Amino acid sequence: MASKVYFSTLKCDNDVSPLSKIKKLAERCGIRNIFTKKELIAVKVHFGELGNTAFLRPVYLRPVLEILREMETNPYLTDTNTLYLGMRTNSVDHLHNAALNGFNYSTLQAPIIIADGLRGESNISVEVNLKLLKSVNLAADIVNADGMVVVSHFKGHEVSGFGGAIKNVSMGCASRQGKMEMHSATRPTIKEDNCTGCATCAEHCFSEAIEVSEKAFITDKCVGCAKCIALCPEGAVKVNWDETTDNVQRKMVEYAYGLVKTLNSKIIYINIITSVSPACDCHPGNDGPITNDIGFLSSTDPIAIDKASFDLIKKSLKDDGDPFKRIYDYLDSNIQFRHAEEIGFGSAEYELLEI
Ligand code: SF4
Ligand code: SF4
Repeated sequence: MASKVYFSTLKCDNDVSPLSKIKKLAERCGIRNIFTKKELIAVKVHFGELGNTAFLRPVYLRPVLEILREMETNPYLTDTNTLYLGMRTNSVDHLHNAALNGFNYSTLQAPIIIADGLRGESNISVEVNLKLLKSVNLAADIVNADGMVVVSHFKGHEVSGFGGAIKNVSMGCASRQGKMEMHSATRPTIKEDNCTGCATCAEHCFSEAIEVSEKAFITDKCVGCAKCIALCPEGAVKVNWDETTDNVQRKMVEYAYGLVKTLNSKIIYINIITSVSPACDCHPGNDGPITNDIGFLSSTDPIAIDKASFDLIKKSLKDDGDPFKRIYDYLDSNIQFRHAEEIGFGSAEYELLEI
């Protein structure tokens, strides 16, 4: 059955704020009936790596937060720590990065909680029993929320073709262990040149998988928790980014399924199609947009909203095929939609209702 997706262009009279459109979109997809008073509502966003300028503008969150406060819920902004080493690898740096990019209490009047703990260790495993994965590893302070609003910057992505709601609710809500499970088919390894043999990693590895003589070595006792990556002071633990792009996308869809199931589908999705950069907001820089700014969408179906966003970009580029293949010819981003259909999750068929 086709899912409803609500859409607004950016066209506005000079005395009308585009933010009022986001408010209407959230209301049309039923935000006031989905959440209730006192509930803790995670507002999932990507704060953007420091140096990137394409990430979502903080001001776009204001209408969502206003509605949630009017409803007397308790909203908090959230994201999770990254698998790679950068400005968002641990919660302290991550909060600093968020503030520098304009996400802070003084701009949005909402607290920020990095949902997977200080170094990405706050993990809850959820059973899914799907085609690739039996369980998924999610950030605890998102799993424990009463509901969620997922606000996504829809753009290109070098591993998944595009990144939108599906990516935000999967990779973006996974713990570090979950992110490594999606990106890597093997355990991490040690960059010997960087390793000083300090043994910090071995002391904290609960699987006793790290042996250290002069240098550290990760044995096959490793269960892939990814804890050692953020602990090493020398950045010597190397993630093997060796999962195929097809499988990364399939695993993302299964992770998204796991989170939606955990929150009993109490989730609203808002996609923002502006500054459509070719690559992820995790980079400390970005290329110019691949198309013009298109507008805002809302839905309760992450598959439908991403398919509608994908099709709007196709239309704007007058492209009959996959618009992201122009940038990444080695990728098939339609896998996300096909795999969702295979596991019976959401619908790539949608009814676009312009408001
Ligand atoms: S924490 Fe890093 S530097 Fe220290 S032993 Fe482990 S890998 Fe080597
Ligand atoms: S990934 Fe986890 S289990 Fe594997 S070596 Fe690192 S800390 Fe140990």
